[in-house]
Amino acid sequence: MKESSYDVLIVGGGFSGATTAWHLAGRGYRVLLIDSKPWNRIGDKPCGDAVSKDHFDDLKMPYPQGEELEQKVAGIRLYSPDMKTVWTVKGEGFELNAPAYNQRILKEAQSKGVEIMDLTTASSPLLENGVMKGAVIFNRRTNETIKINAKITVDATGNARSLRMKLPPEIPVAEDLDDRDADVAYREEAITVQDIEEPEYLRIFVSQKAAPGGYWWYFPKGERKVNVGLGIQGGMGYGSVHEYYRKYLKVYAPDIKEVVVRGGALVPTRRPLTSLVWDGMVVVGDSAFTVNPVHGGGKGSAMISGFCAAKAITNALEAGSYDKQSLWEMNLCYIDKYGQKQASLELFRKFLQRLPDEDIDFGMRKGLIKEEDLMEVSVKGSLKLSVAEKAGRLLSGLARPSLLIKLKTVASYMAKVKELYNNYPLTYSELPRWKDSLYEMYAQFDAALDQ
Ligand SMILES: Cc1cc2nc3c(=O)[nH]c(=O)nc-3n(C[C@H](O)[C@H](O)[C@H](O)COP(=O)(O)OP(=O)(O)OC[C@H]3O[C@@H](n4cnc5c(N)ncnc54)[C@H](O)[C@@H]3O)c2cc1C
Repeated sequence: MKESSYDVLIVGGGFSGATTAWHLAGRGYRVLLIDSKPWNRIGDKPCGDAVSKDHFDDLKMPYPQGEELEQKVAGIRLYSPDMKTVWTVKGEGFELNAPAYNQRILKEAQSKGVEIMDLTTASSPLLENGVMKGAVIFNRRTNETIKINAKITVDATGNARSLRMKLPPEIPVAEDLDDRDADVAYREEAITVQDIEEPEYLRIFVSQKAAPGGYWWYFPKGERKVNVGLGIQGGMGYGSVHEYYRKYLKVYAPDIKEVVVRGGALVPTRRPLTSLVWDGMVVVGDSAFTVNPVHGGGKGSAMISGFCAAKAITNALEAGSYDKQSLWEMNLCYIDKYGQKQASLELFRKFLQRLPDEDIDFGMRKGLIKEEDLMEVSVKGSLKLSVAEKAGRLLSGLARPSLLIKLKTVASYMAKVKELYNNYPLTYSELPRWKDSLYEMYAQFDAALDQ
């Protein structure tokens, strides 16, 4: 078998893998990125394609431009289930042509020395004495099987999780996904019959009836094209996402005529992997469960994970040591930038998924949580207790005591879990004890919600 050696092997060239490569490029390391898809399809995956501008600013990534940008976003209009209340949450963002932007990032990394092989799949990880040493890959262009030795291997395989799930289950990065901690999502891109009103506003429709445990979206891609779809919670026996799509499409997107793209995929909606690193290995993006648990957006956080991975990998390579402790900075960086917010939002997601439509209608109509509070929740992952107090005043006498109690419970657990993540262990040896505390807290939270 042919054999090659690299400092870093990145498996997967979607947003997370491409960003990892982009941040590693030009530093003098031998980096190989492979993707199963042909070049012109990398980055082409079912997605709503909406990403907040903040992510590009924070990570100093170039803005999408030209054909990479389909629509500038000014904010979101959030519709209550009965459609009687509409909230506007302002915030700049982009509706991307994701493959075009993704491929540009890859080309920039390539121009700075990253080697890229398309049509190439990692078939098995090389694990020696429990240490990741690279992977066996198959290149369909050259018909070659190649053993790639790498000091550090990055699993950026998206929801396929195709590298890390081949590791023995006792290795922490092999952690599996509970079906209920994922949304089954489906979307189509379609041409509309007439010009879309306010194409700069994304529309989100909450409805347990039409999208149980998830929501519908209508994201304009210019004046005459829209990305429309829905996500529903997995593992609950809700039935097929396609049936919901067909049944409710006319309600949320009455104006579409010609479908140009269709497809669906799974979206993890939980806290990140308990550890995103192992000896010789880093996990990024959907494979590491980096998606926002409430809105299901994962491209921005995939970029954050790529940024953190590149930082940790660079320092490990500089130090000449690639074990989990040398790569631990990945965990600390990601948790600080996004992971602790995800953990807190996972609790909020569990709360929202249990709310009946009438409570959501009521809460939005009465302003129990306001648009600005929603911003605070989505930006910082904190639900202010003052919100729950205010809700208490509004709810007293309105015969919804259970909603109040739950809102208070959620707010306090969200603060607690953030605190726990702020004390994420500095060494691997402390991880099992920390994980026990986390699981205990989640179990208590679930029990409190089910009361
Ligand atoms: C319907 C839907 C709507 C969504 N809407 C939004 C949205 O509006 N905004 C947002 O931010 N996020 C959204 N998301 C989530 C977002 O799409 C993902 O979080 C993000 O694209 C993940 O990027 P990634 O790089 O981790 O994975 P991916 O983009 O899935 O990339 C993984 C890559 O790895 C390659 N690969 C896999 N296995 C191997 C292997 N063994 N060898 C070689 N290559 C391999 C694949 O070919 C693929 O290119 C949505 C998701 C879905 C399903």
